[in-house]
Amino acid sequence: MKREDQNTTDVLTWDEGVTLRKYPALDADTSAHVVIIGGGITGALSAYLLAKGGKKVVLVEKGKVGFGATGVTTAFITESLDTRPSELVKGLGTIPASIILNSHEEAILLIESIIRDEKIDCDFTRCENRIYATTVKEKNLLKEELRVLKTLGREASFVGKEENELGFKNEGYLLTEGQAKFHPMKFIGALLERARKLGVEIYENTEALSIMHNSHGKAQAVRTASGNIRADWVIASTYEPFKHPSSLYFKKALYTSYVFELEIEKGVLPEGIYEDLKSPYHYWRVDAGKKFDRMIVGGEDHRADIHINEEKCFKALEDFVATTFPKLSYKIVRRWSGPILESIDGLAYIGELHPGERVMYAFGFSGNGMTYAGITAQIVVDKVFGRHNIWASLYDVGRSPGFIMLFEKGIDYSKEFFGGAVKNIFKYSGGGK
Ligand SMILES: Cc1cc2nc3c(=O)[nH]c(=O)nc-3n(C[C@H](O)[C@H](O)[C@H](O)COP(=O)(O)OP(=O)(O)OC[C@H]3O[C@@H](n4cnc5c(N)ncnc54)[C@H](O)[C@@H]3O)c2cc1C
Repeated sequence: MKREDQNTTDVLTWDEGVTLRKYPALDADTSAHVVIIGGGITGALSAYLLAKGGKKVVLVEKGKVGFGATGVTTAFITESLDTRPSELVKGLGTIPASIILNSHEEAILLIESIIRDEKIDCDFTRCENRIYATTVKEKNLLKEELRVLKTLGREASFVGKEENELGFKNEGYLLTEGQAKFHPMKFIGALLERARKLGVEIYENTEALSIMHNSHGKAQAVRTASGNIRADWVIASTYEPFKHPSSLYFKKALYTSYVFELEIEKGVLPEGIYEDLKSPYHYWRVDAGKKFDRMIVGGEDHRADIHINEEKCFKALEDFVATTFPKLSYKIVRRWSGPILESIDGLAYIGELHPGERVMYAFGFSGNGMTYAGITAQIVVDKVFGRHNIWASLYDVGRSPGFIMLFEKGIDYSKEFFGGAVKNIFKYSGGGK
C-alpha cells in the first residue's frame, strides 16, 4: 500500500506518484482549543475549518494521515445515499428527509469551495450519478424513488433503456446530475498542508490513549504515550468510536467491501459514478485518462465478523465485471478491501454522546463518508463556536433509532447478508473458508 522514504510517503493504493508529507510524532505536552483524534478526511476537514475560524488545533494520528478508511475509499462525493430517500421519508418524515439530503448537497459544495479557494489539485470533477436497474422490478423501484425525490424538491430524472447508451445492458437509470468524485489522497494531503499553514499542529504515530476530564465532567486533555494535550474540546474522528463506549456498541456494524482498479479502453463507458440495486450492491466510477480510462469498481460487501476467504469475494467481484461488461477488455491494476461502518438506522452519528462533555464523535458513515466528513466538520465548527446547527439533532449520537428506520434497514442488511456473505461462501466453495 505504501512506500516510505525519510520525509514523505508515496501512496500506492490509488495510483503511484502521490506524495504525502510525513509529520512528526508528539514529544512533549502541548495545548489547543480543540484536539482532533484521527487524520482521515473527517479529522482533516474539521481541523481546516476550525483553524480557518481562528481556533488553535492539534491533530493526532496513531499511524499515517490518510491511511485509514479514507485511503481505501472509492471517493464518490454524492447526495445519493446508501439509505434510500423513501426509507428516510417513511422513517423520519418529509422535512427531516429533505434536510438530510440537503446536508449532503451542502457538503459537496463545501468540499468544492475549499478545493477552489485553496487551489487544491485533486482531480475534483463534477459528474453524473447513475443508479441503474437490470430488471423491471428494479426499474419500478427507481421510478418510485424518483417520485419521492420530487416530493422532496430534489432534481433527478429517470432515463429509460431506449434512451440511454451506457455501454452495458440496463433497464434504465435514476440520474442525479451535479455529483462529484476526486482523488482522496491528493485532497487530504493538500488539505492537511493548508491546515498546517493555518497553524494546526499535526502529529503522526501518536495514539490518543484516553480523554481526561475535569471535576465537572468536561474534557480537558487527551493523553498520549509521549505527552498530554490540554484542550477545551475533543473531536474523535477515529472511524470506529474512540474507545468503543458500550452504549454505542449496538448502533453500528462493520462490513468489508472489495475494490478493483481497472485500466479500460478509452471512451467505452461514460465518465461518472454508478451503482446497481443488487444485494450486496456494486458501485463503480469511470475516470477519463490519457491512454486508458480508469474504472474503480467495488462491492460484494459482507459483515466483517463473518470470515470469508477474500479470494472468493474478489472472484465474485470479477464475475460481476465480466457479466456486466462482457465485451470490455480490462486489466486489473490493483485491488484492495476496506471497512464500511453501517449505522443501525442508516444515518451517521455525529455529536456529543454526553451533552456538555465536549467530546464529539462521528461514525457510521456507511458508503457516504466523503459527504458525512463535510457535514461533521460543519457540525463540529458550529458546536465549538456555540452556534445552532440545523443538522445536528438529526445526526444526534444519543438518538434512539425509530422503529420504521430500524425495520427498513433490517431488511436491507439481511438481504446483504444472504446475497453477500452466504452467496460467496457457497458459490465459490473451491478453497479457503
Ligand atoms: C471500499 C470503500 C469504498 C468507499 N467508497 C466511498 C465512496 O465512494 N464515497 C463515500 O462517500 N464514502 C465511501 N467510503 C466510506 C469512506 O471512505 C469513509 O467513511 C471515510 O473515509 C471515513 O473517513 P474518516 O476520516 O472518518 O475515517 P478514517 O479515514 O478511517 O480516519 C480515521 C483515522 O483515525 C485514526 N485513529 C483511530 N484511532 C486513533 C487513536 N486512538 N489515536 C489517533 N488516531 C486514531 C486512524 O488511524 C485513521 O487514520 C468507502 C469506504 C470503503 C472502505
